[in-house]
Amino acid sequence: SAAAPARFADAHEALHAVFGYDDFRGHQAEVIAHVAGGGDAVVLMPTGAGKSLCYQVPALLRPGTGVVVSPLIALMHDQVDALVRNGVRAAYLNSSQSPDERREVERAYRAGELDLLYIAPERLNTEPAKRLLEQGTIALFAIDEAHCVSQWGHDFRPDYLALAELAERWPDVPRIALTATATEATHRELTERLSLGDARHFVSSFDRPNIQYRIESKSQVRQQLLDFIRREGVDATGAPVSGIVYALSRASTEKLAAYLQQNGVSALAYHAGLPPEQRAETQRRFQQEDGVVVVATIAFGMGIDKPDVRFVAHVDLPKSVEGYYQETGRAGRDGEPATAWLAYGLQDVVQQRRMIDESPGDVAHRRRMQQHLDAMLALCETVSCRRQNLLGYFGEQSTPCGNCDTCLNPPESWDGTVPAQKLLSTIVRLERERRQRFGAGHLIDILRGNDTARVRQYGHERLATYGIGDDLGDQQWRGVVRQLLAQGLIAAQGEYGTLGLTDASADVLSGARTVSLRTEPDRPARRSRAAAP
Ligand code: ADP
Ligand code: ZN
Repeated sequence: SAAAPARFADAHEALHAVFGYDDFRGHQAEVIAHVAGGGDAVVLMPTGAGKSLCYQVPALLRPGTGVVVSPLIALMHDQVDALVRNGVRAAYLNSSQSPDERREVERAYRAGELDLLYIAPERLNTEPAKRLLEQGTIALFAIDEAHCVSQWGHDFRPDYLALAELAERWPDVPRIALTATATEATHRELTERLSLGDARHFVSSFDRPNIQYRIESKSQVRQQLLDFIRREGVDATGAPVSGIVYALSRASTEKLAAYLQQNGVSALAYHAGLPPEQRAETQRRFQQEDGVVVVATIAFGMGIDKPDVRFVAHVDLPKSVEGYYQETGRAGRDGEPATAWLAYGLQDVVQQRRMIDESPGDVAHRRRMQQHLDAMLALCETVSCRRQNLLGYFGEQSTPCGNCDTCLNPPESWDGTVPAQKLLSTIVRLERERRQRFGAGHLIDILRGNDTARVRQYGHERLATYGIGDDLGDQQWRGVVRQLLAQGLIAAQGEYGTLGLTDASADVLSGARTVSLRTEPDRPARRSRAAAP
């Protein structure tokens, strides 16, 4: 069979001639030299750092075709289109093609006419696909989004497990695995599962210094988001900038987009349930126009290569730090200042806890999800530098950054032991004396001494703890409950998110353990109180 001849002898020459860039960035040059020389590599680089060149350039330097395993069909199209525009002979094989189109790609591969061939893992794992690959010359295998092989990770794909076989079937072909997910657990797991024990590892810093991280507590989230966009969604000339708003549900993306539109923001909704033409149009407008804000589920963003996204906002709590990092990483790829803004509240914690409880899968799976959530909550509740916490999660040591909300505006903390004890003893009384459990709203009504129909219905105005927490406002109490949940001092259970005790609660009740809570800034939405004397 014919092998596509090496197109270039030198990596820099390929970089200039094909991609039009002057220099390699970060570890690119090292990775390319290693893989072009036939070595295996594991590459951990943050989103936007330039992973693609790490396999595209070696594919142009080695005889044969670089075979790229990529899980996202939409991404494949974009990458191949961009390569073809640059004069690279690239093609893909996936389920979106007609049999004729596929046959033509197969022919070109056999004839040695392709520099790069993109293929989805489920297709590569079939025997016909492997036989096809044997009929040509493979320059290298690139396994993109390699964290998909990890069950620890947030987007595990069973098809990735079978990719270990590539090493057995083509022992002489170099393999390069790439991911933007850098936790140690994922790194270890993908190295093992893809049989990359002898690979060289290239680990970049995950810091994105131009992104300012800010996390605030949720009260009126729509209003908070609008305030944020009005304040910071404009450039120095007052023109609106591009941004992404992430929400958890499809319905809420549509409602939020409509609300923003009514308030003068060019907002568009995006989620997997919208017609493909509409999604493509939204994506096109976002890429090409200035000042478009896309309100989306996490379905949006993979494969978006827009350098000047000025903010990424989350109106619901992401399920993991990896997800948060990946989504916020879409901001500021051009290196100019950008903002990652997140609002989260008590309801997020309760809801995610419930989703974990109800999720299919074994105990280990639920425990992993809980650990992901705990890490995300720790980031939200930290009183020290956000970036330090974030990078620490990825195993990277750093000093306070000076460019996050906690660095710029160090939060104060207060001794929340007494309110915690009041809440816990209310829960204890209800459980022990009446075998009853309630959600945060009703418990707060009891503590604040609110005279509601539900309080009367249950006779809760006769509880000893009725009204003992009226020194704090409703919103403050919600902050206390949320932080206690985040610290594991109470637990939310069941469909209604009723609150119960944890192993750690007893120490707080007995006074053996004190509780430190972060002071939350007053919100205009809160009921105003008389000034303190
Ligand atoms: P990743 O896959 O790591 O998220 P990409 O490979 O998509 O990143 O690259 C992100 C952007 O950076 C792309 O627009 C790419 O063309 C650009 N880029 C990559 N390497 C370089 C370089 N050495 N010089 C200039 N731009 C680069
Ligand atoms: Zn900081």
